[in-house]
Amino acid sequence: MKKNNDTSGLTPEQYQVTQQCGTEPPFSGAYVNHHETGVYSCVVCGNQLFDSASKYDSGSGWPSFWSALEGKQIKSRFDESHGMRREEILCANCDSHLGHVFPDGPEPTGLRFCVNSASLNFLPAGTGPDFVFSNQFLPEDTSHFVSGNPMLPPFPENMEMAVFALGCFWGAEKKFWLQDGVYSTAVGYAGGDLENPNYQQVCHSDTGHAEVILVVFDPTLISYLQLLDVFWQGHDPTQGMRQGYDVGRQYRSMIMAMSTGQEKQAEDSLFAYQQQLDARITTEVVPASCFNYAEEYHQQYLAKRQA
Ligand SMILES: [Zn+2]
Repeated sequence: MKKNNDTSGLTPEQYQVTQQCGTEPPFSGAYVNHHETGVYSCVVCGNQLFDSASKYDSGSGWPSFWSALEGKQIKSRFDESHGMRREEILCANCDSHLGHVFPDGPEPTGLRFCVNSASLNFLPAGTGPDFVFSNQFLPEDTSHFVSGNPMLPPFPENMEMAVFALGCFWGAEKKFWLQDGVYSTAVGYAGGDLENPNYQQVCHSDTGHAEVILVVFDPTLISYLQLLDVFWQGHDPTQGMRQGYDVGRQYRSMIMAMSTGQEKQAEDSLFAYQQQLDARITTEVVPASCFNYAEEYHQQYLAKRQA
């Protein structure tokens, strides 16, 4: 990442904290009681620092994390100011002051990264720079045939997204739109090589895409873990490149994680389900990169066929 020390866009408080080793008053920052799924980045340079999966309520009045993201995102040095010897933490990319790290955090690390909200920006899950929607088939204002909510972004700010592949997308989509707390769903193609594939290409020319479901959900009503239960119970995850009578790579089982937090929850739940099964689970857990909306007639197919 390019070093970017441009501080001209900062508020006075952000400047004082990040550039002059300031500390915001406890319980004053924007992210103290913030529980959305996503990633916290450096407010100065955008370097990704902490995942929401490692955030916890320490009671200190500052956002607290038990670990930083891997990859040397953070560096530390001893700080002797205020008559205390503390370990200061800084953005490893731009040297902005973040806060301090203390050895009194929870398991598994025993560390408490105590960070000023003023040093951070929050990127909700699924809005990271790596995830793109691709749409060549649907009008921009397409609404869900069952719920009437939009199928294309932008979605309301409090929503999160998940992407799953569990065989033919017609029946799989319905399993998710039936859940309370699911705002919208769509079917599409993901995980392959060809840009903007259509159904014929995915089914007959081995583009590597899987048939996938985009699930837009309100995490205060249904959690990602509950969606993972729908996923595991909605198909047989031990069948490799097929699902029942549907045979081919496009029917493989896959979880496309929108964040490192989702990836960890997906891997943990895969491990838990594997304990209950004799056959080996073939589900792939991969980072979500692109969702290609499928043709309109595939969207909410089972509801349209009944209508
Ligand atoms: Zn930085």
